[in-house]
Amino acid sequence: MKIILITGASRGIGGATAILAAKAGYAVAVNYRRNRTAAEQVVSEITGKGGTAVAIQADITREEEVMKLFSETDRVFGRLDVLVNNAGILEPQMRLEEMDAARLSRIFAANITGQILCAREAVKRMSLKHGGSGGAIVNVSSIAAKTGAPGEYIDYAASKGAIDTFTVGLAKEVAEEGIRVNAVRPAFIYTDIHADGGEPGRIERIKASIPLRRGGLAGEVAEAILWLASEKSSYSTGIFINVSGGR
Ligand code: NAP
Repeated sequence: MKIILITGASRGIGGATAILAAKAGYAVAVNYRRNRTAAEQVVSEITGKGGTAVAIQADITREEEVMKLFSETDRVFGRLDVLVNNAGILEPQMRLEEMDAARLSRIFAANITGQILCAREAVKRMSLKHGGSGGAIVNVSSIAAKTGAPGEYIDYAASKGAIDTFTVGLAKEVAEEGIRVNAVRPAFIYTDIHADGGEPGRIERIKASIPLRRGGLAGEVAEAILWLASEKSSYSTGIFINVSGGR
């Protein structure tokens, strides 16, 4: 059985990916930061249908907690085949003039440093160079990396641009060590993150300008993530799938 570790899997895109991964036959490590109840619900949904999953608390902005997340995954499952670097945060919409350093630190710690630290621990376990048997890393970026999200959250967009560059670089760095690194760029997906951005109804406001004329579902992003995680995408590395309704 293949082992998949999904960061931020208690809700939203990560939660949907955990449930779809279990259906595809993976044993799932369901990471969460604070919402234990939500993480346990994802685990129950999986185990209730005969799947294998465990919830593991860790704040990925803290290096010692990232180390604990991976050592706990080792302890429970004994190996790692796929990392989905999904955990990420958004802060209230504002222009640059209003942004302070504390906000920027929170955004970059969660969306860049945390993802890079998790990728480091995954590479140590998967790389043929380190005695691993290969694997796949799927980073969750955003279409904001391309649009820049002006007037809303250019800091968040910049953090996702960094993830795109990281995806390209790491893909080349570890390609001959049996690890593929790819990313999805979602947008306008119905999750709690828009409330964190200060506008829970954001998708309704802008959906008429989305070519497909609707918001997306977390499960639609999960499909793309799991394709990139699987051997079906075996000749792709360093690529991006936009799941953004045509934007
Ligand atoms: P969400 O519904 O707000 O869920 C966020 C998840 O990340 C939760 O499981 C949360 O855990 C976890 N998390 C946050 N900070 C964490 C940390 N420091 N350590 C560990 N876990 C942490 O968000 P979402 O919309 O599903 O977003 C998932 C990813 O998709 C993010 O990277 C986001 O930037 C990206 N994305 C989303 C959209 C969209 O339209 N929704 C568009 C583009 C990109 P708790 O439950 O414990 O708080």
